[in-house]
Amino acid sequence: QLTDISTIDFNKMDGLIPAIIQDAETQNVLMLGFMNEDALAKTQEIGKVTFFSRTKNRLWTKGEESGNFLDVVSIAIDCDNDTLLIKANPVGPVCHKGDDTCFEESNAGNDIQFLSYLQDFIDKRKAEMPEGSYTTSLFQRGTRKITQKVGEEAVETIIGAMANDDENFMYEAGDLLYHLVVLLTHKGYRIEDVVRELKKRHK
Ligand code: AMP
Ligand code: ZN
Ligand code: ZN
Ligand code: ZN
Repeated sequence: QLTDISTIDFNKMDGLIPAIIQDAETQNVLMLGFMNEDALAKTQEIGKVTFFSRTKNRLWTKGEESGNFLDVVSIAIDCDNDTLLIKANPVGPVCHKGDDTCFEESNAGNDIQFLSYLQDFIDKRKAEMPEGSYTTSLFQRGTRKITQKVGEEAVETIIGAMANDDENFMYEAGDLLYHLVVLLTHKGYRIEDVVRELKKRHK
C-alpha cells in the first residue's frame, strides 16, 4: 500500500533524496541510501528497493549480486517532502558485512529493542542450527525439553522473588524470558505475536 508520494521534491536535494529503509516486521532501521527519480520509479515498478549509487554512478537494486533483495511493503514521505521512509521485508542480511542491518549495534542498543534483536538472533539459530550452540541443542531436543526448561526457569524465578534475592530473581527472570522466546520460536511464533495478543486485550 503506497501513500501519496507525488509531492516529492527531487530538486531541493540536487536530484538525490535519502531513503530510510525499515524492516516492515521488526521495525528495525536496516540501511540508508539515496534515490533519484529513476531509482524511485524502478523501486515502485519491481517492488524491490533500488537506489542511485553514487560510488557505482548507476541504479543499484539492493541484492542484485547477493540476492539479498529488499521487498517493498510501503513507501512514505516525510513532512517537507524530501525524505522517504520505505518499509521492506529483507530476503537476507542487509549489510554487506553480513549483519542483518547496517545499524546492528544501534538496533540492539535500546533495552526493549534488544528483545527484537534477541528474537532475530534466535530465528537465525533455528534457521542455521550451528553446532555447539545451546539454542541449537534446545531446538534439536524439541518441545518436551524446551517446555521443561520454561517450567524450571519459572520455578527458579519464583524462588528468587520469594527469597527477596533480587540478583538471583533478575538472573532467573532472564533465563525464563530467553527460554520462552525459544519456545515461541520453536512453535513458529515470535514475540510480536504475543504482543499482538496483549494489545488486543488492552483497553
Ligand atoms: P548487493 O546489492 O547486496 O548484491 O551488494 C552489491 C554490492 O553493493 C556489495 O558488494 C557492496 O559493495 C554494496 N552493498 C551491499 N549492501 C550494502 C549496504 N547495506 N550498504 C552499503 N553498500 C552495500
Ligand atoms: Zn524532510
Ligand atoms: Zn552495512
Ligand atoms: Zn535458571
